[in-house]
Amino acid sequence: MRPFTYARAADPAAAVRAVAGDPAASYLAGGTNLLDLVREGVARPDAVVDVSRLELAQIVTIAAGPRAGGLSIGALATNTDTANHPLVRARYPLVSQAILSGASGQIRNMATNGGNLNQRTRCPYFYDVALPCNKRAPGSGCGARDGVNRTHAVFGWSEQCVATYPGDMAVALAALDAEVRVRTPNGIEREVPIAEFHRLPGDAPERDTTLAHGELVTAVELPPDDFAAHSYYLKVRERPSYAFALVSVAAALVLDGGRVAAARVALGGVAHKPWRAPEAEAALVGREATDDNFRAAGEVAMRGARPLAGNGFKVPLGVRAVARALRGAADGGARPPGW
Ligand SMILES: Cc1cc2nc3c(=O)[nH]c(=O)nc-3n(C[C@H](O)[C@H](O)[C@H](O)COP(=O)(O)OP(=O)(O)OC[C@H]3O[C@@H](n4cnc5c(N)ncnc54)[C@H](O)[C@@H]3O)c2cc1C
Ligand code: SF4
Repeated sequence: MRPFTYARAADPAAAVRAVAGDPAASYLAGGTNLLDLVREGVARPDAVVDVSRLELAQIVTIAAGPRAGGLSIGALATNTDTANHPLVRARYPLVSQAILSGASGQIRNMATNGGNLNQRTRCPYFYDVALPCNKRAPGSGCGARDGVNRTHAVFGWSEQCVATYPGDMAVALAALDAEVRVRTPNGIEREVPIAEFHRLPGDAPERDTTLAHGELVTAVELPPDDFAAHSYYLKVRERPSYAFALVSVAAALVLDGGRVAAARVALGGVAHKPWRAPEAEAALVGREATDDNFRAAGEVAMRGARPLAGNGFKVPLGVRAVARALRGAADGGARPPGW
């Protein structure tokens, strides 16, 4: 491991000053992704600024403003505390379910929400410094484009990078139209809709998000919504634990009698960012909540997919996963025990 300096930030302003002022500095939160990348020689910070003890772990109802009545979830709350928080469980069970489908209990105890949003792809070429990878070493080529690309993107990829964003929580946040609060180096806070937080690779795959260097995620805000009774996170993976999604689906519905009054569908494991499916949502509104209509929505969601040589299976898998997630949502599946 290369040596680096370590400092614990006293407050968010000091943290942002320290990282923004040094192009080779990096935030350290739970460390569950960053330290792995440093050990592998993929990340090479000269300085890490520990933000894990900043007072940014509160989970509270938003009192005023456009999302009054919604929920603010601190960036430094752990994944465990977030998923198990009574307000999250009761009002946003989709978020609880998505988080609990990720990693392991031990990792979730360390992992923070800000770190989860900023975790890097699990493309194996990215992790192996002996292999070409435009994300790790811009200009070196993309080993996965014509290599082993079973787990890679079917939407939104470029010739420079076909990686997927690996997180689960952000897929639920995308379905729920969350906003990410970000502290900037000039001391103000800006809000980024979750749909604009992660980016497609284009010709700059080394950038995963639209954050500028030094910007610190301080919270995620969820609008008040009506989806708690009918939401479901389905994660399809190769084994029951410790596996990233081949395809995942966050589905949320408002039902009026047997009809769909509102629908949200977002997919994970299919693109460089959580992939919202607005046309599938539109196709559902006003229809009966039947398996046939859910299957048709799945077909719409996967329309336009461009599979690679190794991942054509993700297209029919995506269709079935969307249909199953919608069925789960209609049946009230994300409600945790005791809800
Ligand atoms: C074996 C294993 C299995 C896993 N499985 C899953 C899974 O199935 N689903 C899933 O979603 N995740 C999974 N993960 C990933 C895990 O959830 C992430 O590693 C974790 O959420 C990262 O959080 P952290 O606080 O440890 O981040 P760190 O490792 O501390 O940081 C990660 C990145 O985020 C940056 N960062 C951290 N906080 C902030 C902030 N507030 N603002 C701006 N930048 C910040 C850091 O600089 C770094 O670049 C798995 C991890 C492991 C090791
Ligand atoms: S898909 Fe992206 S992360 Fe994977 S090798 Fe290609 S450039 Fe690197």
